[in-house]
Amino acid sequence: MKIGILSQFPDLYSIRRLVAACESRGHEVVVINPINCYMNINSVKPSIHLEGEELSGFDAIIPRIHASVTFYGCAVVRQFEMMGVYAANDSISIARSRDKLRALQLLSRKGIGMPVTGFASKPDDIGDLIAMVGGAPLVIKLLEGTQGIGVVLAETKKAATSVIEAFLGLKANILVQEYIRESNGSDIRCFVVGDKVVAAMKRQGPEGDFRSNLHLGGSAEKVRITPLERKTAVAAVKAMGLVLAGVDILRSSRGPLVLEVNSAPGIEGIEATTGIQLAEPIVEYIEKMVAARKANSPIIA
Ligand code: ADP
Repeated sequence: MKIGILSQFPDLYSIRRLVAACESRGHEVVVINPINCYMNINSVKPSIHLEGEELSGFDAIIPRIHASVTFYGCAVVRQFEMMGVYAANDSISIARSRDKLRALQLLSRKGIGMPVTGFASKPDDIGDLIAMVGGAPLVIKLLEGTQGIGVVLAETKKAATSVIEAFLGLKANILVQEYIRESNGSDIRCFVVGDKVVAAMKRQGPEGDFRSNLHLGGSAEKVRITPLERKTAVAAVKAMGLVLAGVDILRSSRGPLVLEVNSAPGIEGIEATTGIQLAEPIVEYIEKMVAARKANSPIIA
């Protein structure tokens, strides 16, 4: 097969591992920077160009679109889809999972557990918004935040009100969420390929921080997840329409609660923590999907 990996960062561990896995399984692989691609959108033969050349002959792409370029990156993925190339995470599903409000709405529609969550842009009654999610302590999140930045724990109603007012004063969209105290500053990252959780790790925030993000100094260990956690992670990925994803779950007294579904999960931390190779199952999965598509496609004489 000829496989394209869409990423701006060819030197990242995750990308190097995917390249190595494609090559070790006998595939041709090209890392394509989606931002540099330009496209010809027409009804006869849609095409994608890069550095003066048309990109052609691809069987599959693995989109690893950075959050900062979701809009254009998804357009490039869509163009590959229009050209009949299999995308291991299609453009609609990536866009869905990147929109935190839409993602949580989709999860709730499927009955998947999540912390009680309120959204607000310009609430006229902050007190009611706070009461709606069960009062303080509560977690306030900037919609545009990633890696734990812009995630604040407000211990009291007074603190919550001032943080909400401050964020809204900056014209930021926010999400207000029930605080899951039992998770104790930890969460579970499940790495899903197709309909299987292939690896899972528990991340623990540094002493005194309720956020478990590794970028903020957290630590990680391999964890055995329960059948319900497994089922929840796979259902969350399906609800987005994704096929490769990292699902972040909080362990609560009422069962697993999904925080986020990440369409381009990092491979380095979870491979190092669990000792499980993840790039190879991804490529194997793509081989199966491309073969199944070929088997189903009508033969043109
Ligand atoms: P980001 O996408 O920026 O990483 P998250 O929503 O995943 O933001 O939050 C960062 C971390 O904060 C989580 O990994 C988790 O450890 C903690 N956290 C987030 N929301 C809650 C919550 N409602 N209750 C308890 N802990 C939370």
